[in-house]
Amino acid sequence: MSKIFGVYQGSFLPLEEIRVSPLSRAYTFSDSVYEVIPYFYGRPFCLIEHLERLSKSLEATKIYVDLNRVEDEINQLSHYIKNHENAYIYYQVTRGVDSIRSHQANHDELVPELFGYAVEIKTNTSPIQAKLCEDIRWMRCDVKSTSLLGNILMMNDAQESDCSEIIFYKDDFLCEGGASNVFLSVNGAILTPSLQSNILSGITRNFLIKSLTSKDIIVQETDCNISLLEEASTIWFTSSTRGILPIENLVNSNYHRDPKDPVFNQCKEIYEESFKNYFAT
Ligand code: PMP
Repeated sequence: MSKIFGVYQGSFLPLEEIRVSPLSRAYTFSDSVYEVIPYFYGRPFCLIEHLERLSKSLEATKIYVDLNRVEDEINQLSHYIKNHENAYIYYQVTRGVDSIRSHQANHDELVPELFGYAVEIKTNTSPIQAKLCEDIRWMRCDVKSTSLLGNILMMNDAQESDCSEIIFYKDDFLCEGGASNVFLSVNGAILTPSLQSNILSGITRNFLIKSLTSKDIIVQETDCNISLLEEASTIWFTSSTRGILPIENLVNSNYHRDPKDPVFNQCKEIYEESFKNYFAT
């Protein structure tokens, strides 16, 4: 594998040469937020939307950084992946490095840590197996924080059943995946949990909704009762790194489908067309 390049506090280096302090608040408290921006042949997909979401996460966590600098570093990182068909840039902002671990931050002393890297990925769009899991996370999943223990515990557990994703539910209502958003086609209608369901406002989710709306296909952003899984002809995930990904098996439910449902196929085609048009301009 060729060298992966990253940036840490303004220095661009091979990832393996970057050194961080164990007193980084990312290390001790997950006191940090992040973004993952997909790139196709060196061109970003929805960069502005990702920067806007990062800005919201920073605002919510009261971490103050110069977003022009963030954008400039992301642009510089993109040179390392300009020849790759599929790649992404990971970019993280941490509140800073404490002089000694302390829950309450010493704001006068802290300097935010800016870290990112750019890497090629291989994508797989074949249908996947997923697991239904109770949502045990905090109430601010709209913030793209690196505090992902709830996601990690459930996703690791699902891995033992050969699942590469999960669907979180809370009080009988669907939320989102462990690292993606969820859509369902039910009796010809397209549904997705609303942003009031304690989920991340996924950039791919929003792009798909806009693409479908432009073709007069309505997506209902609503409360999705878990019983809908029984009726759904296809359930699929959306995310920046995996695009649209149908589920063929939800291991701990009765959902087993061959995702050839025409509604799903139409959504996927419209998404792919919009995606192509995005880069054609
Ligand atoms: N929900 C969660 C919890 C995620 O981690 C992700 C991936 N970042 C998503 C949804 C999908 O968001 P996006 O389409 O912006 O990648």
